[in-house]
Amino acid sequence: MYFIGVDLGGTAIKIGLIAEEGRIICKLERSTPVSEGFEAVVGTINLMISDIIEKTKIDRSDIKAIGAGVPGACSEDGLMYSAINLSWENVEFAKRLKELTNIDVYIENDATVAALGEVEFGAAKGKRNVVMLTLGTGVGGGIVINNQIFSGSNGMGSELGHMIIGENYYDCNCGNNGCLETFASATAIIKYTQKLLEEDEKNSLIRDKVEGNYKKIDAKLVFECAKLGDELALKSVKRFVKYLSIGIGNIFNIFDPDIVLLGGGVSKAVDYIMESLIKETYMHITFDYDIRDRIAVAKLENNAGILGSAMYARTRTV
Ligand SMILES: [Zn+2]
Repeated sequence: MYFIGVDLGGTAIKIGLIAEEGRIICKLERSTPVSEGFEAVVGTINLMISDIIEKTKIDRSDIKAIGAGVPGACSEDGLMYSAINLSWENVEFAKRLKELTNIDVYIENDATVAALGEVEFGAAKGKRNVVMLTLGTGVGGGIVINNQIFSGSNGMGSELGHMIIGENYYDCNCGNNGCLETFASATAIIKYTQKLLEEDEKNSLIRDKVEGNYKKIDAKLVFECAKLGDELALKSVKRFVKYLSIGIGNIFNIFDPDIVLLGGGVSKAVDYIMESLIKETYMHITFDYDIRDRIAVAKLENNAGILGSAMYARTRTV
């Protein structure tokens, strides 16, 4: 028996054919036709599933279910309430994909299924209580309690990126001010670095590297320049660590998890700041316990979405 894992993102769709025990048999990736709308995106997913079936020569009836990790909040029966990056609101995603593929479809928030993937196969293997933060364009949150994912009573919970942790100089996409994702996402690092460069005429490696075109700045460049000792980049990274540690401190105080995992694009730079991140997180936890081995970088990287969503489909069909 097989499962299909779908990782639906704002820029790419990844699809994997996954064996019941979690082995990836085949995977495909295509860019997401966001501007063409909902039908085009679901249609692309359907075509990719057909391609995978044809390529691997398996029987469609051997696919037990499709699991999809989606960039937004959704109900248990497959309604997507909203996905800002896809400009979708209240779409019957699971129902439509089932109509096209004739296979049962189960959907969950992308960070939530990524957390499940890490519990099954990655950095949280064997752990019971796990919280995951995906640090990318935004900040996603996934919560596993007693080996079960937790998304709240209506599927709208676990939005850890929108916990308010301070006052910021710009508002979050959600309409609030001070959300974690406006301090600890790639977007936040880029925006703050651009602000510093605009305010400060001093020399900075970053200014040289992008030849004065601040639109070219990405989070990776900021971390690279910080490693080289650039003062402005260091200031930006320090701010990121300060607020991320507040967020992680809150998570420890609320959940007391076995582990907090950091995934997403920005997590690739986390090794460099791990020491200071742990040190600062200690300042925010209520009880005096050891968190040194309880903050870690996620392991599955690009496969977290397809593996996690396939495993989510497995949990729903057992
Ligand atoms: Zn927000």
